[in-house]
Amino acid sequence: MKYVIIGNSYAGLSCADAIRRFDKSGEVVIVSDEKYRAYARPLISYYLEGKTTDETIWYKDDDYYEKNNFQFLPGKKVVSVDTASKRVITEDGENINYDKLFIGPGGTPFIPPTEGFNPDSPMMGTFTRFDDAKKMEKAAKIAKHKEAIVVGGGLIGLKASEGLRGLGLHVTIVELLPRVLGLALDEMSGNITAKRLNENGIDTATGETVTKINLDEAGNPTSVILKSGKELIADIVVVGVGVRPNVGFLEGSGIKIDRGIVVDKTMMTSVQDVYAGGDAAVIYDVINKRPNIIAIVPLACEEGRVAGTNMAGVYREYPGGMGLNSVEIYGLPIVTIGLTNPSNESQKVYIYQDEKVYRKLVYDDEVLVGAILLGDISGSGILSAIIRQGLKSLKYKDEFINGNIYSFVIDNEFEIYNINEGYAIRGDFEDLPEFSRANWR
Ligand SMILES: Cc1cc2nc3c(=O)[nH]c(=O)nc-3n(C[C@H](O)[C@H](O)[C@H](O)COP(=O)(O)OP(=O)(O)OC[C@H]3O[C@@H](n4cnc5c(N)ncnc54)[C@H](O)[C@@H]3O)c2cc1C
Repeated sequence: MKYVIIGNSYAGLSCADAIRRFDKSGEVVIVSDEKYRAYARPLISYYLEGKTTDETIWYKDDDYYEKNNFQFLPGKKVVSVDTASKRVITEDGENINYDKLFIGPGGTPFIPPTEGFNPDSPMMGTFTRFDDAKKMEKAAKIAKHKEAIVVGGGLIGLKASEGLRGLGLHVTIVELLPRVLGLALDEMSGNITAKRLNENGIDTATGETVTKINLDEAGNPTSVILKSGKELIADIVVVGVGVRPNVGFLEGSGIKIDRGIVVDKTMMTSVQDVYAGGDAAVIYDVINKRPNIIAIVPLACEEGRVAGTNMAGVYREYPGGMGLNSVEIYGLPIVTIGLTNPSNESQKVYIYQDEKVYRKLVYDDEVLVGAILLGDISGSGILSAIIRQGLKSLKYKDEFINGNIYSFVIDNEFEIYNINEGYAIRGDFEDLPEFSRANWR
């Protein structure tokens, strides 16, 4: 059996690992258009700041491919997939045949049309790849006024800003929504987060867009013009608005695309023997109860693992995933899970707040469907498990909101209980998402 995997990251390598678990001798070929062995993508901003180095950014050991008998083809871009003849075609004209194919190419940065944006400039770019971080590291060194503009206040924009700030630049985030992390946070938590950014040298211009980037003769930025007409000096412009599924190269392959790659419960695409997962795939969103693209590491790993298991001939179903963010902004830990901004009248919100902590729970009837935890993220793993499993837990909301949650894992069964009342919620620990298990206490 010959397996080909497009993508050398969380989804692709989780798929490869699952294949190897069940098929010890099958041929596994991993193709990546990046020249590096697998690295931890969320850490590229840490690299910029110097918190991670060329030595520590790696996601897998350097002997990982050899040890698992994987053939790794770095720096090879797949330009098309011929599903009729079961071949993957690369930019340099190589044809790689497969029996089973996994597609995990992640996302491609979305660049809103902006006059003056010039990705060829050494002082402008996007921020999703290791090379992007390396480019910005060089740019920061030659920035005359030490002024950077980051377009987008989502996860990628925030991380790019922290990275650039860490290099001594003054940063302004320009965000169209009324707050940073606008889809995950609410007004209060957005304000607290913005304050923390502002105190640390990152300004936030919300409800704003960059309409024009002014350039010098060399095509490098000098300033940006905002929608409001305001002009801000800019040596560096980073567009970190978000990613879209990287599916252009699948045109003509017969694989069904609906924004992203459509998959069934086994993570198989509309074409037999072709599977997909990660940021490029459309999965079932268990909270919003519809197909969705949820671009986060834990889900990419889960989806890849389910796909690989099925590809190796062991049947598994993927139950679907939910949105989940865990970040720390200048010492402020933030976790958001599931539905955080309810729009339905029947959904009730419970909030605890003091000077340092903001905790919000969203209930749909008796079922916990979302949470924002700021300042005190205790119990985030447990809460994410309860949300993911749709467990009824309204009567425990006071403990949840105060973080007084006690839990045990015994013989692979988890149990959550309150020491005073002795209540218990039980389930299978292995069924929990990776994030829940990792943040259990
Ligand atoms: C700056 C930043 C910070 C982030 N922070 C977090 C965080 O804190 N928490 C979190 O959960 N998520 C975070 N994310 C999102 C997270 O990185 C993604 O969800 C995750 O990397 C998705 O994994 P993936 O395997 O689907 O795709 P990717 O990691 O995007 O990898 C795609 C792979 O496919 C390869 N590829 C693409 N196209 C081709 C082609 N045509 N031919 C060959 N190879 C190809 C690429 O080289 C790469 O190896 C962050 C992302 C960024 C950019």
